Amino acid sequence: MTESAQAATGGTLQDGGTRRPALSPSRASDFKQCPLLYRFRAVDRLPETPTKAQVRGTVVHSVLERLFGLPTAERDPTQARALLQPAWEELLAQQPELGELFDGPDDPELAGWLESANALLDAYFELEDPQRLEPQACELRVETELDSGVLLRGFIDRVDVAPTGEIRLVDYKTGAAPREIGEAKAMFQMKFYALVLWRTRGEIPRQLLLMYLASKQRLAYTPDETELRRFERTLEAIWQAILRAGKTGDFRPNPSRLCDYCDHKPLCPAFDGTPPPYPGWPEPDPGPESVLDRAD
Ligand code: SF4
Repeated sequence: MTESAQAATGGTLQDGGTRRPALSPSRASDFKQCPLLYRFRAVDRLPETPTKAQVRGTVVHSVLERLFGLPTAERDPTQARALLQPAWEELLAQQPELGELFDGPDDPELAGWLESANALLDAYFELEDPQRLEPQACELRVETELDSGVLLRGFIDRVDVAPTGEIRLVDYKTGAAPREIGEAKAMFQMKFYALVLWRTRGEIPRQLLLMYLASKQRLAYTPDETELRRFERTLEAIWQAILRAGKTGDFRPNPSRLCDYCDHKPLCPAFDGTPPPYPGWPEPDPGPESVLDRAD
């Protein structure tokens, strides 16, 4: 997105056109999980190799977004399958390095991978009927500033608004990570979006809906005001802790079973690695969410 486009959509630009540091749900979760992981991702911005499952998630999200761009009567499994290949090719055009995940277009693994994406799309249709829905927005970029000055920023997969005005936030989960590992993180993300929506629209979403496509499960949750106020204080505390660590470079490793999913284990002192020298707190922006973050 260009800077002028950011301004047009409510992005906050500092004098000179630079983006202000903001907290996204992915980076806030990173810091909670492991401050050093946050540093590697948001401060050092070390490259990570996306897995096939992550890229599949990105493509499936893209197909579901396109699906809601079709006339209502055309939103069926056949059309969804037809959207898959173009969505993959478009992502590949944007990020040609993703082609290295496969051994060329004739790699049988590519066909199997596309079929597994189709299976997730088929599962989606078992969870709801998109012909009965008219979302207000898909892949909505949201941003708000809390009273404390913390800037929150992220993307919501889908926003539904009932005729009565009640808001529902929807998030598709396509990841291969076990649900019990991902669920707390997913709820954190949804509360983050509920808070941003509340602060920007003045209304607390009636429902937060997680749709786990791989296991064909829906998890619905109703946030309340007390909880969101508490969550707001949690985010402010996380941001203050990030700023404190950012000043000194003291981002400590916090080993857990999630280390198995960490690309930076070889650089981690908890596993006898040595991190690169601290590059200093990034100004002005510690890093936006990527499309892969949004495909968890
Ligand atoms: S390996 Fe574990 S402790 Fe080390 S940076 Fe990654 S998540 Fe943190």
